[in-house]
Amino acid sequence: MGAGSMTRDKLGRELRDLRVSITDRCNLRCNFCMPDGEDYQFFRRDEILRFEEIRDFVKAIIPLGVKKVRLTGGEPLIRRDVEKLIAMLSDLPLEDLSLTTNGLKLKEKARALKASGLKRVTVSLPSLRDHTLSKLVGREVKVSKILEGIQEALHVGLSPVKVNVCIIKGVNHEEIVDMVGFFRDMGVTVRFIEFMDVGNLNEWSMDRVFSVKEMRDVISQHYDLEPVERSYRGEVAQRYRHKDSHVEVGFVSSVTQPFCGDCNRLRLTADGRLLTCLFAQEGHDIKGLLRANADEETIRRFVCSLWAEREDNYSEKRLELINRGIIPKKIEMFQIGG
Ligand code: SAM
Ligand code: SF4
Ligand code: SF4
Repeated sequence: MGAGSMTRDKLGRELRDLRVSITDRCNLRCNFCMPDGEDYQFFRRDEILRFEEIRDFVKAIIPLGVKKVRLTGGEPLIRRDVEKLIAMLSDLPLEDLSLTTNGLKLKEKARALKASGLKRVTVSLPSLRDHTLSKLVGREVKVSKILEGIQEALHVGLSPVKVNVCIIKGVNHEEIVDMVGFFRDMGVTVRFIEFMDVGNLNEWSMDRVFSVKEMRDVISQHYDLEPVERSYRGEVAQRYRHKDSHVEVGFVSSVTQPFCGDCNRLRLTADGRLLTCLFAQEGHDIKGLLRANADEETIRRFVCSLWAEREDNYSEKRLELINRGIIPKKIEMFQIGG
């Protein structure tokens, strides 16, 4: 299990990406993720992995082939001293270190994030209209506040900045064309994500999914996009570029054209569980090993055997399960971070 050895699961997929949720708490209540009004039981502070534990874990599994790490949440920018964790991770031999945020605290944090070694950010912004945004995120939020965060991220060189938009039919799908134009002018990649049935609370149903095909059809009436070749196996977004500019537009068709066959992601929850799929139920405890001061080899062995047993492909089975009336209980999105 030395450096450079590849770890493959039962479907031949390598382990390359790690998503680390650093908190299950959030300063928003997006109704597609963590609807307002629920009585959420958050992890206690002592249940949450410390920065050293996260760093030790990441360091241990890099030899298994992990090249990219993304910090997420909940809202990662509300975890105190997140910059310190970034500095600790940026010392490790990774090709990419990024973070996904709702952007509320990005303006004040962008400079420190960059200085600590973060390479780039993805900002989630589901609407360009104040009223719709506030309704979607369950809090009074001005679009301009998030846009200022994006501008600051660009200004300090956290590049490229990408914007994620979760599209829900009947809620924000009519904004797609406006968004394509708006972010082209801003020089920022926008990625439209199909509404997914993550968790158990967001009242997902197939008829609330606006498919990537529908998105592309409506955009094509206004903009000329050409496909961009994917840059690596396992890239989830289908990438396109405006014919008259370098700016890209991406589509994530998790529901209507699943990409489980290439899925090379492992996820670590804030309380130290490993998930081999976004739609997993419980996860596998790794905190116990980390808190018992297990050496790197032991951690690697644990992850290796977990990955070797992996055969997840929920998105490919979703429609069949729905048709059979089977609705599995799943972990909530704010606990795994997308
Ligand atoms: N709080 C951060 C944020 O919103 O960017 C990071 C965590 S959030 C769970 C990560 C991503 O998941 C966001 O881009 C969000 O839009 C997306 N997301 C949440 N619920 C979703 C759903 N039901 N379907 C599709 N994407 C979803
Ligand atoms: Fe919070 Fe992000 Fe979930 Fe919205 S999508 S509730 S910002 S974790
Ligand atoms: Fe990966 Fe699971 Fe999503 Fe399929 S459903 S792409 S295996 S996370």
